[in-house]
Formats: sequence, C-alpha cells, structure tokens
Amino acid sequence: MKYLVISDLHSNLEALTAVLAGVKRKRFDRVLVLGDLVGYGANPNQIVDGVRRMKQAVVIRGNHDKVACGIETGENFNRAALQSAQWTQKKLTPENRSFLFHLPQGPVKVDNEILIAHGTPIDEDAYLFSDYDAYEVFQVMDFELCFFGHTHLPVIYAVSNQRLYTFRPNGTRMKVELIKGFRYLINPGSVGQPRDKNPLASFAIYDSESRTITFKRVEYSIPRTQGKILKAGLPQSLANRLAVGV
Ligand code: ZN
Repeated sequence: MKYLVISDLHSNLEALTAVLAGVKRKRFDRVLVLGDLVGYGANPNQIVDGVRRMKQAVVIRGNHDKVACGIETGENFNRAALQSAQWTQKKLTPENRSFLFHLPQGPVKVDNEILIAHGTPIDEDAYLFSDYDAYEVFQVMDFELCFFGHTHLPVIYAVSNQRLYTFRPNGTRMKVELIKGFRYLINPGSVGQPRDKNPLASFAIYDSESRTITFKRVEYSIPRTQGKILKAGLPQSLANRLAVGV
C-alpha cells in the first residue's frame, strides 16, 4: 500500500495545490490527513472542499479544526491563532463546518497497521517536541508505526531495545528505510505552515511494501498566500512567518 501523509494544511491553498501537483503521477491507496485543515490561512473552504474530494482519505481533527467548528472556544490560543480561528468560523460554509465537527478524534487505526494522531496518540492536543515526549508515548502505547502532526516539524523517532533514536530529515527529498523490529513515531511536517526554518511545504509518502518513508518539500507561491492573508484582514505575523518557515 502507498500512503500520502499530510498534516497541518492550515487553509493554505497554494501549498496544498503544490503538494498534490508534486505527486500527480503517483497512485496512492490512501491519503492520511493528520488534522488542522484550517486556521491561520485565508482559504478554509477550499481546503476542506479539497480534502472532502480526496478519494480514500482518512482524516482526523486538529485543535484548530475544533475551534473553527465550535467544539472548543480556543481560550488557550494565542491572539493571532484565535483571531484566525474566529475569522475561519465565520467563513466556513455550513457543510464544511459540519464536516469538521464530525471528524474523528485521534488516534485512529488505519489498515490494522498504522496509527494516526494529531498531537500524540495519548492526547490529541499535546505537543510531541522532545525525545522524552516520544519516549513517554512509546512506553505507554503499543504500536509499530504512528504518524502525528501538530508541531509542524518533520521528524522520525524510533525505538528498539529500550534505545531511542531521533532523525530530523532535511533537504527537499529524503528516503528512509524502516527497520523491522523498530517502532516509529513519524511527523511528516506541515503542508501549510512549516516551522523548521524551511518554508517549503512538507509532506511524506509511506510505502508499506518496501517499508520506506519519503519526506518531501515543494515550493509554492508564498507571496500569493501572504497577499490573501493580508487582504482577509488576518494578522500580518501569519503572513510574515510563512516566508521564513517558523
Ligand atoms: Zn497546526
């Protein structure tokens, strides 16, 4: 099976379009969407429409999706995040709001093999930033392979025989072979708002036959996305950060 793994799309239509154009010739059995379809960017409906059109997609909700559809109020959000969530709430069509409202909470098991989560498989809102965070999840939960998002940072955590390994992919394409007997927590990075100081849209492809994961980065028109954010009256900081990838 071939999986396209995307996370944290954040209403960035240009980035999602570039990702899909970059894999146009490939056939995927499934698309795994790890949450945060909306928030920050200016094209929430176009992104939700796009995800709804994806065949074979397995989608879970993220914290921004929850606030945008009214499940949560966003009192823990910073000002820019809250402002964009409230703006998104007003912009969403009733159909798209309902789609977000009914998205399942992670973790969700896919094909009896893969776990998908937004924050961590223990807590959908928790950030998995450190080696210790990863270690804790490996201790508490039994899985071989889990894809997660939320931090917007591409990374592989692997564990075998009580040893933890961390690998941060860089460059525009990096293929990694998964080792049998190891357990993995993998973040594909963010499509719509990368934060690893690389502004290119980030995603991953998993091939369960060859047991390989390929991290990829694609260019998109950042000025166009920034122009839309400013025109919508959203905070300037949300436009600025896209250019530096933070
Ligand atoms: Zn996010």
